[in-house]
Amino acid sequence: MHRLLPRDARPAWSVMDLDALAHNVRVIRAMLRPSDRFYAVCKNNAYGCGTSETARVMLQAGADAFAVSDPEDAQRIRAAGVDAPILLYASTCPDMADAVADLGLIATVHDFASLDALSRVRKPVQVHVEVDCGYGRLGFTPDEWPTAFAQLRAAPGLSVVGLYTHLASVETAAAVSQQAQLFQRAADAAETAGFSDLERMAASSRVMLGYPELNLNAVNPGRMLYGMVEDPWRHHADLRPVVKAIKSRVLQVKTIPASFPMDDPRHAAAPGTLRTAVIAFGFKDGLPREPAGGTVLVRGRRARIIGLRATEHTIIDVTDIPGVAVGDEVVVVGAQGAEEISGHEAVSMYRMAMIELLPRMTLNTLRVYEGAEAGIS
Ligand SMILES: *Cc1c(COP(=O)(O)O)cnc(C)c1O
Repeated sequence: MHRLLPRDARPAWSVMDLDALAHNVRVIRAMLRPSDRFYAVCKNNAYGCGTSETARVMLQAGADAFAVSDPEDAQRIRAAGVDAPILLYASTCPDMADAVADLGLIATVHDFASLDALSRVRKPVQVHVEVDCGYGRLGFTPDEWPTAFAQLRAAPGLSVVGLYTHLASVETAAAVSQQAQLFQRAADAAETAGFSDLERMAASSRVMLGYPELNLNAVNPGRMLYGMVEDPWRHHADLRPVVKAIKSRVLQVKTIPASFPMDDPRHAAAPGTLRTAVIAFGFKDGLPREPAGGTVLVRGRRARIIGLRATEHTIIDVTDIPGVAVGDEVVVVGAQGAEEISGHEAVSMYRMAMIELLPRMTLNTLRVYEGAEAGIS
């Protein structure tokens, strides 16, 4: 006889703040003209915050449309009952052109193979054209622009909505300005081919924050939405972390016997005095295995992580924290009492970019949603 386990039987969970999300969307909307189209980027399951749970909140707070890198995220948006336009970044091979067209998305034409495949689809398809202005990744290179736009013009089934580029080296103003000039040339090439009134989109989060003149008439911020912008950009706007906390609980507390060969400086210095707790959180939950070190919070105090993380467990030093008991809540990221481990501190502790670190953990733990906006569904 099977009994249904509670969803949090193993205590590893993350807390999402939907009010912070709505706030961030409003901050972005306020940076735009009313006619600008605001694509909210929801790739990687909304940067780990959950596309199904966040899409409607973003729409109600001022986003116009969505952008995703995997048709599955598009399906999550539709499954949440949201029918706003969705731009699908280059993410599928040409043999999926029919399937992509069936989803009713704005597909991306990023090279001649995708152009060819989407023009053969037997139904009208809206497309955005991706041009490469210096990233060296996806999109038509400048020498291809005249031919590409001429072919798009001649493809009866394709309706071109706009063109976009993803800028490289955003830390360097000169590199951005050079790519922006090239993007203008792409827009000119489109116009020469007979396209007018296209969306022109070059602004991801850091471009919006550092080069607002490049907002043009459409933008596609991602990390700004979720409050995952790092230094120095984060000081350019009042954005709040959507990942409010990542938590676990204590599974066992013990004093390590003096005779144990445990590889830890404190144990080596004073054998028999090291008191540890094991928490139900490891690299399966997205906490990077290396580098060693880091801290978590328990009983409102900082506890040092001992050694590398294991698959599902992490050992912490609670020698100086009285009263730690089985079941105590442990904070990996977030606040507890007067202490806080911010996402920014976690980034420097685990030496991983925030848009990689936080989604690793939130996508592998139970996500719990908070905030007045959590009531909207
Ligand atoms: C991810 C992505 C964005 C958003 O980038 P952020 O830095 O998260 O704002 C914009 N455009 C493209 C093509 C992307 O892949």
